[in-house]
Amino acid sequence: MFQDDLVALGRDHLYQNYRQPPLVIVRGEGARLWDVAGKQYFDLFAGIAVSTLGHGHPRLAAAIAEQAKQLIHLSNYFYNQPNVELAARLTKLTGMDRVFFCNSGTEANEALLKLARRHFFSKGEPERLRVIAFDNGFHGRTLGALAATGTPKYKEGFGPMLNVTHVPYGDVARVRQEMGPDVCAIIVESVQGEGGVLPAPPGFLRALREIVDEAGALLLADEIQTGIGRTGTFLGFQQEGVEADALSLAKGLAGGVPIGAMLCKAALAEALPPGSHGSTFGGNPLASAAALAVLDVIEKDRLLEAVQQRGRELQERLQALCSKYPKDVASARGRGLLQALVMKDHVDARAMMEKLREAGVLVTVAGGQALRITPPLTITSVELGAALDIIDQVLGSPS
Ligand SMILES: *Cc1c(COP(=O)(O)O)cnc(C)c1O
Repeated sequence: MFQDDLVALGRDHLYQNYRQPPLVIVRGEGARLWDVAGKQYFDLFAGIAVSTLGHGHPRLAAAIAEQAKQLIHLSNYFYNQPNVELAARLTKLTGMDRVFFCNSGTEANEALLKLARRHFFSKGEPERLRVIAFDNGFHGRTLGALAATGTPKYKEGFGPMLNVTHVPYGDVARVRQEMGPDVCAIIVESVQGEGGVLPAPPGFLRALREIVDEAGALLLADEIQTGIGRTGTFLGFQQEGVEADALSLAKGLAGGVPIGAMLCKAALAEALPPGSHGSTFGGNPLASAAALAVLDVIEKDRLLEAVQQRGRELQERLQALCSKYPKDVASARGRGLLQALVMKDHVDARAMMEKLREAGVLVTVAGGQALRITPPLTITSVELGAALDIIDQVLGSPS
């Protein structure tokens, strides 16, 4: 089928909650993608920070194929080997003690929120129901995670919401002010991804740790976008040397196979007893085998170091673009391979994203004005450089 026919089919039958451009991507290799018409794109978005190893990675493809022949699904009526191995690997990498598996980021955050409430319920403090979260924070689209999400437009028409107090990101005094004996947890990202790639100000996560410790509440880290090496350490929190009580992972964990995980410290291990929470697909052998392959490659190919190196190159190039195009570019920010070029308010960032796509580079827009750059962690220096040359040309061409 031709591209236009496929686009027409999608426009006629898919639910219209997205704004896809009129093109169909059919194939990828490493950090490059091709559409039906054969046009090549540099992938600087990795399916929203998901394709950790890029596209068509032989180790990941082989792990999935082999597992598919053995056992795809089982449910949690029994243990399965890739899943228990994955649980052991993840607890080691994160410093947590227990893992609950699900299938997406929003589900991992639902598990975090239920964990927090159930923990205080079993401690005899059922009045601790309120959560503190942050303006522009993103935690997902199911009703619990949506309540924690800090962008009002995502919530419009879906109320009433759970009891969540939103505070400006980085504002320690306001967090102290809003903390109270009815708060069960603070949920926070170490870099606000969807919110526009905003790293936590230095000391902020540590201050949150102190506040919850004083108040007897929990610190929940949403590492869905920042985890799995995206910022140059396995978790974003690890850069600040701060440990949460529980955290969520998803996006990049299985390199594109749907997966989510809630991890917690031993102190919370009894909060969700048998029967209190679950998932039919969660922890399935296929997704677990894919995640194990991702963790193997991160380790064997030293991808954390690669992210730090590519991250420095990216930061330098983005800073140079700020200096070169001061009329249109406001700033550059981010960590590792989660960075953004922030356009000034007079620039239509979505239109810029489309111009970049036409020129062969795929990025996303986050928080209104940020062109977010989240390539596969395996992107080479040459590929990244070539993609940035195109961005440079597009910024320099008259609009
Ligand atoms: C993407 C994202 C989510 C939601 O994940 P889904 O898999 O889309 O449900 C939650 N939190 C953060 C920080 C995210 O980036």
